Amino acid sequence: MISNSSEIIGPFTEIVQQASNYLWDVTSDNIPNDLHWDRLFITLFLAVLLFTVCRGHGSKNAQGQERKTGLLEYLLPKDIYTHTSARVDIWLWILERILRPLWVVALFSSVGPITEQTTISALQWLFGATPAIDSNFIWMLLYALVSLLCYDFVFYVIHYTMHKVPALWAIHKVHHSAEVLTPLTRSREHFLAGPIWAAGSAFSFAFAAGIFAYIFDGGITQATILGAGFFSFILGLTGAFRHYHVQLRYPRWLEKWIQSPAMHHTHHSYLRKHWDTNMAAVTSIYDRMFGTLYIPEKDEYTPWGIGPETQDEYRTFLQNTTGPFRDWYKMLSQGNSPQAGAAVPPEEIT
Ligand SMILES: [Zn+2]
Ligand SMILES: [Zn+2]
Repeated sequence: MISNSSEIIGPFTEIVQQASNYLWDVTSDNIPNDLHWDRLFITLFLAVLLFTVCRGHGSKNAQGQERKTGLLEYLLPKDIYTHTSARVDIWLWILERILRPLWVVALFSSVGPITEQTTISALQWLFGATPAIDSNFIWMLLYALVSLLCYDFVFYVIHYTMHKVPALWAIHKVHHSAEVLTPLTRSREHFLAGPIWAAGSAFSFAFAAGIFAYIFDGGITQATILGAGFFSFILGLTGAFRHYHVQLRYPRWLEKWIQSPAMHHTHHSYLRKHWDTNMAAVTSIYDRMFGTLYIPEKDEYTPWGIGPETQDEYRTFLQNTTGPFRDWYKMLSQGNSPQAGAAVPPEEIT
């Protein structure tokens, strides 16, 4: 019989008690990750396959327009990889990597265990002692699925809030100021966004961990593939394409359940009809529930960035790093707030 929450140590708490590097490796494995060499290899392999099947069609240029190209241009188009935006991606990524250790340990070692223990205590209070079920592979799969769904939901809520609250949009705008998409664009965030996403991830995984730790008296681990959460791995296999200029689509019926990478192309478009769409990380469930799902047409035009009117203010590394502070100053001094989605040229309003 369990009399208080401290007697059940959930997997998340156990992990947090170990070294911080190991901690980051373990938790980040749950997040569909694009920058590992294996993911990049898969991206390249799939791109060659798409090139062959589509006979050179399906990749986009720096303006977000579909075009037919030769293989090298298909995989590594010059206009995209020599673009200022792609260079700024690299510098923002370096800055984020340097600053990450400052907050990731603090957040994971606080938000994670507190969430996990609170979840366990709440369940004990609601339902009494742990049923202490024996786990098997089916339960481990379910745990992996619930973890992913929790993560996707929290991701959606944070992302939606960042788009709708002007003071937070000032931070997230840095991700959207990318004028071309490269695999590094995934990590293109203002350094203030990192802790927000990390807290959200820690919270969601620890919440799921708390539920399963309660049911199984701490005796369960997620089903994994190659060290990553089972469903995160399966569904995240094509994740690198979210920020790749080649369109990877799924059948329409499947896109209603899982975000195809091409659906993220529209998320990065500055056209009015594309604003605030497709905001979840993995599934389409929450976008469908909250009315933000947008399934693009074949080869849909998706000009990337925040739009010609304000793009000049978010182009260089310095502009992007100071951007939120400039926006907040403007908001405070003028008493008005920039709208989410930034400005759109009149001819683009549809
Ligand atoms: Zn966004
Ligand atoms: Zn993105």
